[in-house]
Amino acid sequence: MTVVTRFAPSPTGFLHIGGARTALFSWLYAQHCNGKMLLRIEDTDRQRSTQEAIDAILDGMNWLGLSSSDEIYYQFSRQERHAEVAQQLLNEGKAYYCYASPEELEEMRAAQRSAGQTIRYDGRWRDRDPSEAPEGIKPVVRIKSEQVGETLLNDLVQGDVTVQNSQLDDFIILRSDGTPTYMLAVVVDDHDMGVTHIIRGDDHLTNTFRQLQIYKAMGWDIPEHAHIPLIHGPDGAKLSKRHGALGIDAYRDMGYLPEAILNYLMRLSWSHGDEEIISMEQAIEWFDIKDVGKSSARFDFSKLEALNAHYIRQTEDAQLAELLLPFLKKTLEAPLTADQKALLVKALPGLKERAKTLVELAEAAKFYFVPRPLSFTEKAQKLLNEDGVAVMKGLLPHFDAISDWSEENISAAVKAFGKEADLKMGKVCQPLRAALTGTTVSPSIFEVVELFGKEETLARMQDTLK
Ligand code: GLU
Repeated sequence: MTVVTRFAPSPTGFLHIGGARTALFSWLYAQHCNGKMLLRIEDTDRQRSTQEAIDAILDGMNWLGLSSSDEIYYQFSRQERHAEVAQQLLNEGKAYYCYASPEELEEMRAAQRSAGQTIRYDGRWRDRDPSEAPEGIKPVVRIKSEQVGETLLNDLVQGDVTVQNSQLDDFIILRSDGTPTYMLAVVVDDHDMGVTHIIRGDDHLTNTFRQLQIYKAMGWDIPEHAHIPLIHGPDGAKLSKRHGALGIDAYRDMGYLPEAILNYLMRLSWSHGDEEIISMEQAIEWFDIKDVGKSSARFDFSKLEALNAHYIRQTEDAQLAELLLPFLKKTLEAPLTADQKALLVKALPGLKERAKTLVELAEAAKFYFVPRPLSFTEKAQKLLNEDGVAVMKGLLPHFDAISDWSEENISAAVKAFGKEADLKMGKVCQPLRAALTGTTVSPSIFEVVELFGKEETLARMQDTLK
């Protein structure tokens, strides 16, 4: 059997981090089994589905590298097929028309509420003769759910879950305007598309018991189900689409690498021994949906940051420079020239050791590219007091005399000057760093001086004398 999983987002919001984790588990499991994952946009809710959300979902999936090899399916385009299945269920007496008006249903619910009963459709049209149908009312179609016995689901993550059929109601499968409900569409699509494993959030568990009614009524094979625990926020509250800042695009804008996000997400409710850093290749080899735990994980930014720092260090410098360009563009006035790009690539080994995000890395790299004269941070300004400026003045001829501009010769010149002026290295290097970078933090100052080159270094030092 070829394993077919699917990711089936409703395009009513962006691809949020929880959705991305569901997609990741579906994708990993499919890859692990040499199967495939389908992407199905569940756009049947016409009022709430937007093209913007579809674009954001596709964009996010591509960015994470979780795209599907198959075509992308759009649920709405299949509504005729959904209606056809509803018709078949009607013909076979497994579904029926319900003519209850909204007011009538509201009355029913109010009565149930005051009697302290569970609120649910009471099956009032289940056995009524269609000849009793009132004039001028367009009916909905409801499924005849089982009323006795119980339904058992062998969930791959949750284990055996049982629901008493008396708890199930005759839910709507076709609205009065003839459009299918999610409950019907999802079953028909999963069946028709040959989905073998439904992997989704455990908030869908109650839906599943209703959907099983449709499978049974149609006599279809029931796919395996795996309801994975939701991700909770750092505060323990449920993460939801409403946490707008937690859309995948927000993480990209915050300077996270997709590798870090994937690594972080896969470790939420799944693990492989004590491994913290797991590449996608390894994950494909190791991931089995059966090993996903039942308890929910809390989202921990500091862990994500640590992983991101790791993947930033791992990224090859030329590639990292490319990734950094859009972030630098935001903080610099002009885009980098070809020479500046080359400088960035050379500077990255020294810069990337400390950065946790691309935003931080861009911030740390920025000083290489801000045009003179610099503006200084308050601390840097302090270092360039009278003493600091005197250091620049004294150091200038030593630098000027260097003919081979190497880190080694630069360091020797600084030492020679320190000796001559009877100053400790720190007393020379700190104001020098301030003069060159406008700040008090940077990679090794000798490296910075070397990368700037002689002309730019002397010019920045001279600026402080003015
Ligand atoms: N479209 C549903 C949602 O976004 C998911 C359906 C499913 O996975 O079965 O919540």
